[in-house]
Amino acid sequence: MNTLALKVFTALALILLVESASEDQKRYDNYSVYKIRHPNQLQRQLLHKLTKQHESFSLWHESREEIHLMVSPQALPELGKYLNKTYARSNMFISNVQELIDNEQALNMKARFGPTVNWKRYNTLSEIEAWLDDILIRYPGVTEGFILGKSFEGRNIRGLKISYKTGNPGVFIESNIHANEWITSASATWMINQLLSSADKQVREMAESHDWYIVPVLNVDGFVYSHEKDRLWRKTRQPSAISSCIGVDPNRNYDSYWMVSGASNDPCEWTYAGPHALSEPEIKAMSDFVSSIKDKLNVMLAFHSYSQLLLSPFGHTDEKVPENYDDLMQVAKAYGDAVKALPYGTVFRYGSSAEILYPVSGSTKDWAYNEQDIKISYTVEFRDTGKFGFVLPPSHIIPNAEEALAGIEALLRECKKLGYLQLKYKV
Ligand SMILES: [Zn+2]
Repeated sequence: MNTLALKVFTALALILLVESASEDQKRYDNYSVYKIRHPNQLQRQLLHKLTKQHESFSLWHESREEIHLMVSPQALPELGKYLNKTYARSNMFISNVQELIDNEQALNMKARFGPTVNWKRYNTLSEIEAWLDDILIRYPGVTEGFILGKSFEGRNIRGLKISYKTGNPGVFIESNIHANEWITSASATWMINQLLSSADKQVREMAESHDWYIVPVLNVDGFVYSHEKDRLWRKTRQPSAISSCIGVDPNRNYDSYWMVSGASNDPCEWTYAGPHALSEPEIKAMSDFVSSIKDKLNVMLAFHSYSQLLLSPFGHTDEKVPENYDDLMQVAKAYGDAVKALPYGTVFRYGSSAEILYPVSGSTKDWAYNEQDIKISYTVEFRDTGKFGFVLPPSHIIPNAEEALAGIEALLRECKKLGYLQLKYKV
């Protein structure tokens, strides 16, 4: 083969390689996302029915004010019928989901050179794990790795403890329980790096006066699947005994008011709560681990995207509020104010899940609050409010993580003022 032929052959082989890699992935060509504003009860019910009947519809977000619905191009006439019939007010805000995914992949490829985890792109599970190994070597005195347990597919679920001294109150951060919310693990790893290496006086003070337990990726199987097969995969990967649909919504699977509200018993839905509480090995592992150290924990934060919200208990009911509701609001306000004060001016709203979103039971924050006596417990919904949704461009990683760090710093300061950081264990 001469040089030119060799070059042509290599180029063709490369094209084939790239094509076969992307052929393997689920595509969302011309899938669009619609915002349906101020849906009434009937519109909401019909919409749920629609998403149940058709695979072509997915509910990306649901709150009291609006619903975000992803629709396949084939199902657009069906959506049109629904909108006409119910007089729902709507507008399209993403015209082609695949385009967002392609842009994200291109940026990820471009930033591939350099340190393994560099926050200019979204990292894979193996990159995050290699980086954690490196952190453990670089900061041997103050870091300690832990393993929650094994996932359904047999992967280790890893966490990192950071502790500068004994007698600190504990903060637990759970991240990427929903597989497609990549901004969560990207922000959690950035925060780990700051806690260990920042020279900023306030960050040092915060880092060293709390014990940190951080699980960057809880839903490891789903996360790997979302990188390799389907960017929008949300659930776990355990097959169902009653359906061909795979996986459970792990944030409906905790053993606290399981299946009471805001969860589905249909394995094909995004919010399927599982055949029983703790059916998912990842959630059982998290539950066992947190129970075993609950006396050391004062604060539980579960990282999610998207919506820019701080959600507190209760999720299972809107008929009553927790006894420290006012404190939970005051602490959430501190988080929101600190984020807004940054140059980005990002606005976070706050309130209980049941108030702002809709009733949701079996989630981390409610389980931690109700069953583990962790009285400061929130779901943090990161950027954005729907422009990119789950496919947030990597240029948002550092600004989003900066907001999380500033928000948590303010949150902990407020918690201390209100007396929530007192030790529950003897030193
Ligand atoms: Zn989520």
